[in-house]
Amino acid sequence: MSEENLRLFFALPCPPEQAAAICAWRDDQAIDGRAVPRDNLHLTLAFLGAQPKDHLDALLQMAATVQTDSFSLTLDRLTTIGKGFICLQPSTTPPALLQLVEALSERLAALGVILDCRPFLPHLTLSRQARCRPQKPAPDFSWHVDRFVLYRSRNTEDGVHYDELGSWPLAAP
Ligand code: ATP
Ligand code: MG
Repeated sequence: MSEENLRLFFALPCPPEQAAAICAWRDDQAIDGRAVPRDNLHLTLAFLGAQPKDHLDALLQMAATVQTDSFSLTLDRLTTIGKGFICLQPSTTPPALLQLVEALSERLAALGVILDCRPFLPHLTLSRQARCRPQKPAPDFSWHVDRFVLYRSRNTEDGVHYDELGSWPLAAP
């Protein structure tokens, strides 16, 4: 058995067009802290942490059994979470997003993957370790969510990189 572990999480990637718009708005603000790179913008669905590489096939097969609906997501709240995480959040969480998280959590539990016991908090992080909030309100950022992704998170000299290991469609309702 391989002893290598992979740091894994399921997430909704922020599509390139919305990521560009979000970064254009963010970079115009006086947000301090560590800005999340444009390519890394995402909304975490389930954080798995370190998983044995040998577990990957089972995770990929499991994800393929998820059959929840696509949905429209609107990030319309600018919030600070914890210690200096500047985030965008939806003021209304789409039921299909909760169903997707639930479907993944159930299947992960069946595979013996223990998730954080904190309740799911949909958020897209813009900056970390920020000491001040942006002065101007954020516009609404919306997109149609029609897929979810399994990422491997890797620390490199250039910062953290997320490798897409799998992507699964969400069907039109
Ligand atoms: P870095 O930690 O190097 O700043 P990062 O936080 O982007 O980078 P990871 O720590 O690998 O990279 O996290 C990947 C995603 O999983 C992020 O959305 C992060 O907020 C989330 N995450 C990390 N640790 C946990 C955890 N213990 N519980 C829930 N979500 C987590
Ligand atoms: Mg982290």
